[in-house]
Formats: sequence, C-alpha cells, structure tokens
Amino acid sequence: MREPVCAYIAVGANVGDARQAACNAIAAIGRLPGVALRRQSSLYRTAPLDSSGPDYVNAVVEVATRLTAPELLALLQRLETEAGRERPYRNAPRTLDLDLLLYGTGRIDSAVLVVPHPRMRERAFVLVPLAEIAPSRVSTDELARVASQRIEALPPASLVP
Ligand code: AMP
Repeated sequence: MREPVCAYIAVGANVGDARQAACNAIAAIGRLPGVALRRQSSLYRTAPLDSSGPDYVNAVVEVATRLTAPELLALLQRLETEAGRERPYRNAPRTLDLDLLLYGTGRIDSAVLVVPHPRMRERAFVLVPLAEIAPSRVSTDELARVASQRIEALPPASLVP
C-alpha cells in the first residue's frame, strides 16, 4: 500500500456563516476516506483578495493521506459542492473554497491541478495559518512580503459570547 503523504489544505469561506462553514469543512476533511487530520491552524478573519463580498474566514490544515493528489482534490471539490458552492463567475464570493497547497514534496502541473498552489506565496490568508502549524514551510521574508494584507486570528469558539 502507498505510504501516507503529508499534505496541506487551505480552507476559506465568505458567504453566510463563514466561521461555521470553515469548521464544518475541517471536520468533513477529517472524515474523508484515506485522510487523517493531523493539525489545524486557528481560524483567521481576512480581507477579500482577488474576490468580492464580506471578509473571509480562513484556516490551513495538515493531513496525512494515502490518496493521490488528484484523488484528494476530487474529494475536496465534492465537499465544496456539498457546501452549496456555485461558480457564477471567476473569483465570486464562495460558501467554501478548498485549495490543495502542498502534497509532500511533490510538484504537479496538470490541466486540473497545480501543486504547490501557484498563488499561495502571495497570500497572507495562506502563509500566516500555514506558518502557525508548519513554521518550516514559510520563511520570514515571505511573511514580510504579505504583511500589508489584513488578517486577524479569531478567538477560539468557546470564547465567543
Ligand atoms: P477555485 O475556483 O479557486 O476553487 O479554483 C478551482 C480550479 O482550480 C479547479 O478547476 C481546479 O482544478 C484548479 N486547481 C488547480 N490547482 C489547484 C490546487 N492546487 N488546489 C485547488 N484547485 C486547483
């Protein structure tokens, strides 16, 4: 059987109860067949970037998976669809956006999947939560380059009145 691979997934939502959608998505990722949830970042509130609508809620999770990267992406896309995701136009607000950031040390460049995710190094909403759970994967220079993008960690749900 294939050895498990360490992969990182970005979770984002900005429609309806975005915080709940992000929490539900993280739980659903942990229930995917062939996927074990290993770490999850805090939830962050972030300004929309290349997108519109209200602030996003973002997080990054680390999983160990025996799935191939295309198999994992297909299951993530199914979760997006189940969360009611529609794509009326490019970069529209979204109930749930799941991006495969890193898949082991693999590099993939196909028509449907590019890994490492090509825009992840430009985005504070990816780099800040990724640095929280996998500091060796993000440099201080990379964090400095996205420091102007608005992002704040949300308090844990139990502290929210
Ligand atoms: P989006 O609308 O931002 O969710 O983009 C989804 C599209 O990007 C789909 O057509 C995917 O096949 C493609 N895609 C390419 N690379 C990735 C990746 N690393 N993670 C998620 N989607 C990807």
